[in-house]
Order: sequence, then structure tokens, then C-alpha cells
Amino acid sequence: MTETILHKTYNLKCIDLSIEGKGVCKLDGLVVFVPAMFPGDEGEVEIEYKRNGQHFGRLKKLSVFSPDRIEPLCKVSSACGGCVFQKYAYKAELEYKRRKVADQLKRYGEIDVEVLPTLGMENPINYRNKIQVPFGKDDKGKTIYGFYKEGTHAIVPRKECFIEDARAQRILEKLNDVFNRLGIEPYDEISETGSIRYAMIRTSYYKKEVMLVLVTKETFIPKKPALIASIQKEMPEVTTLVQNVNGQRTNVILGKRYMTLYGPGFIEDSLCGIKFKISAASFYQTNPVMTEILYKTAMDFAEIAKNDVVLDAYSGIGTIGLIASKRAKKVISVELVEEAVKDAVKNAKANHIDNFEAYQDDATAFILRMAKRKERLDVLFMDPPRKGSTPKFLSAALALGPKKIVYVSCNPLTLARDLKVLKSKYKVEKVQPVDEFGRNYHVETVVLLSKTTRD
Ligand code: SAH
Repeated sequence: MTETILHKTYNLKCIDLSIEGKGVCKLDGLVVFVPAMFPGDEGEVEIEYKRNGQHFGRLKKLSVFSPDRIEPLCKVSSACGGCVFQKYAYKAELEYKRRKVADQLKRYGEIDVEVLPTLGMENPINYRNKIQVPFGKDDKGKTIYGFYKEGTHAIVPRKECFIEDARAQRILEKLNDVFNRLGIEPYDEISETGSIRYAMIRTSYYKKEVMLVLVTKETFIPKKPALIASIQKEMPEVTTLVQNVNGQRTNVILGKRYMTLYGPGFIEDSLCGIKFKISAASFYQTNPVMTEILYKTAMDFAEIAKNDVVLDAYSGIGTIGLIASKRAKKVISVELVEEAVKDAVKNAKANHIDNFEAYQDDATAFILRMAKRKERLDVLFMDPPRKGSTPKFLSAALALGPKKIVYVSCNPLTLARDLKVLKSKYKVEKVQPVDEFGRNYHVETVVLLSKTTRD
């Protein structure tokens, strides 16, 4: 069948959205995924390719429009691919995210609970406080920045992005001008010449502070003093400049080595009334408006009592734990990345919080030790990376038996898998999706689990 349908065009109707926000169409019982097609759309679709047994198509012409289809703000969304929902009504996107969480919990967790309506933004534009862009050259040899064309390392130059912080975008433009003027070359993977690989910019939401990180092939950057002087003069918004060296041939953007070229090496921002110092290597949520809502939801769910001992696992720079410390007797946090733990310690001091302890460790190893020593734990916050937690972590959590577990997740699939384990002793009380990534298919979820057994 496959050979006969590839590169042919069919009239298809979109009936659903996949977990990556692609339109789902059916062709004689066969599923075809089509980007930028939404439920209710109907039109001509060319079947482009087959990957891992699944068919993918390209929408050529629409004949029936989904009632939720809108004019996109961004004209390059199809090429960029960052915003799968630029052409979809935001309200419909929020409902899609709610349904996605419910579906995954049912499918992978065998959990059939009501999922609350997704909390979203008023208007999901310019919300992202972190930009990372690759640098390269155009046909005329000029330095440009942009996004990688899907599946390649060719750079498509970009102008305005409606997701990222506007200040950061202006800095990027100026930085690119400086590179061209000084003749500082982007690194070229093929000829292995040049030095600049990426720029990363982090902006503070509440303060006028901006961090610029230049990711370079080696420590040496030609005309470094002139570069630093130009940035200081032409981009005074940049309050700290950091160099990161990444000599590896890899898709990972940041290398291991950081050098502060000026300023303190971190920026400060605040969340739920607590100040945070954020250095280049530390994880920090990218949507400041929705992060406050996310954490507030987590706190409301936890209902921490004055005498509670709280663990913040996978703590990053200690955001959740430090916010919780105002309500708890004691908060312990554990995080793998050393810089983030150092930030957490600094953050506790800066906020005059003395009932908070930050540990650098693997969260599983740490909680296993706590379980072995039968330490007291009343509330557990866990916010693991996309791959979720580990079976050992979960069994140690079950053994410690806190009265409540608040699971913050950025991946409903691994959330469902982990909840399936926890539900042996805990009831899934509330599931609240929060839209941290408007226009993208990712969704953040806060889950409240309360203990059902007495042991
Ligand atoms: N709760 C924080 C961070 C969440 S992101 C916040 O809201 O900002 C997940 C964090 O888990 C990252 O900081 C990552 O460095 C950390 N992490 C990843 N694997 C880990 C492990 N095995 N043990 C402890 N922390 C880990």
C-alpha cells in the first residue's frame, strides 16, 4: 500500500491532533499526520514520506476551513516549526492541551480523572525569557542568525518572533551587526573555521537585567576586547556577558565551560515574591507569567502546614522549595546541576530564608537515602525533566509516605507512567494543566496526590 500512496495527493479531512500538534487524517483506515491542519479542515494533502511506519503529509490546498483556524501573527511559522498552533485559536489550543493530558493519563497511567481546564495566558505573545539562536552565513558571506531549516543545519534568517522577549530580539540584531562589522566569523561545521556558534539571551521579567551568553568553538575569540567594548557600548541593556565554550560536534547548545566576561555572571528575577539569581547553566522556567501561576497552583495543592517537612526534588535553582519555605517548618531540595544548587544556596541567603537546605545529588540516590533512614517527609514536590522520574525514586517516595505529593510535569506521557506507580498508595486528586508554552504543543501539568493508606 505504502508505495502506491507516497507522493500522491488525496482529499483528506482532519479529525484530531497528535501529541505533537500535527493534524490527524485518515486515508482508508491509515493515519496520516499533517502539520498545520486542524480538526474540521479538509483539503488536498500530498503524502510526503513514511517514518517509523507512520505517514506524513503536506497540506497543499484547503477546501473546508476548521472553525478554529485563524490568521497567523507570524508569517514564517510553517518554515520555523517552533509554533505549531500559530494558525489555531488559542482557546482551542488550551482545550487540546487539556484533552491531551487526560488522554495520556488514561492510556499510559490507567487513570480516569477529570482534568481541569488549562490555565492559559491572556495573549500568548513575547512571553519567552530565553532565546537561543545559531549563527551562520548567507550566500553573500554575511553573518546571519535564525533557525535551522527542518532536518538540516542550514540557517533560515528570521526577523520578528512573536514568542520571544522583544528586548532580546533587538539585542540579537545589534550583536549580528557587530559581528559583521568586526569580521568575527560564525563557526562552520564543515570547514571547521570561525568561532561563534550560538547566542543565548536571558531576560529578567521584573528587573532591567539581561544576560548574553556567547557560545564559541574555543576559548579564543578574535578581537575579543573590541567585541566586549562594542557590546557594552551598543547594548547597555546587557548587564552581564558570559562566554560558553562548546568544542563538541553535537546538537547540544551549551558546553561545560563558562567564563564571565563582565557583570556578575547572573541575572536576577523574582517569582511569587521571592528573588532569584539565575546563572547561565541553571534551568529556569521560560514563561515568567505562567510560571508564577504554575507555582501558585502547586502551593495551593500542597496546603503546607506550619510543621511540615518538605522535599523539593529536581529543584533547579530552588524555585519551588524557596516559595514553599515561607509556609513550612523545613525544606530540603535536591538537584543534579552544581551551578543550579549554588544558585539555590545564594537565593536562600538573599531572601533571608534559613529553613532551606540545598543538596547536589541525583534525586533518586538522595531520596533512597532518606527512605533508608526513614526520615520524616510530609510533602513531596517533584518536577523531573521530560524523561520523568525513576522506578527507584518512586518506590522510595512510596516508602517515605508523605501525606501529599505534588508532581509538576512537562511531559504527560512520563507523568502518566509515574502516576501509575504512585497510585498504589495515593489518590490522584487534582490535575491542572498550565500553558507555559503558548503556540507550541508542550504542556505543563500540576498533579495533587494524597495518601490513601495509613502505613
Ligand atoms: N523545579 C525547577 C526545575 C525543574 S526542571 C523549576 O521549576 O525551575 C528539572 C530539573 O531537574 C533540572 O534543573 C535538571 O537539572 C534536574 N535534574 C535532571 N536530572 C536529575 C537527577 N537525576 N537528579 C536531580 N536533578 C535532576
